[in-house]
Amino acid sequence: MTTVLTPASPLTAADRCDRCGAQAYLRVVLASGGELLFCAHHGRKFEPELKKIAVDIQDESGRLATTAAPANTDER
Ligand SMILES: [Zn+2]
Repeated sequence: MTTVLTPASPLTAADRCDRCGAQAYLRVVLASGGELLFCAHHGRKFEPELKKIAVDIQDESGRLATTAAPANTDER
């Protein structure tokens, strides 16, 4: 997978997980041009699938580590 870093607007508290409505920490940009938003929990859950269809994944779940419970540091 080729990750292209594009200047994307940061996720805010107004961005909500498409699955559960919690605050979103991942923005998944699809090849079709669409976007999906996920909370850290669902971002992790769907990550393997998302990596197959996403052209870019903006992962801001790292911000959780300083403000809430520690996130799993399985990569990076
Ligand atoms: Zn969620």
